[in-house]
Amino acid sequence: MCSIFGHKPDRGHARHDGRDYWTSCRRCNGQLIRDVDGWRAGTAAEISFHDSLRGDRDEQRAAAGLG
Ligand SMILES: [Zn+2]
Repeated sequence: MCSIFGHKPDRGHARHDGRDYWTSCRRCNGQLIRDVDGWRAGTAAEISFHDSLRGDRDEQRAAAGLG
């Protein structure tokens, strides 16, 4: 779907990781990064860097059933 119509960002859940804004796609659940032209799928390197920035806070949220 997304390869044809483009991703559908969930703007309500966008968050800043200290470098970029991120959210997830409402259709494919992929991770989207905010670029100058709008939302696009993050590259593997960007997602890896993003995961390293999220740190302990998201792990605690996941442990609490919130993430
Ligand atoms: Zn998508």
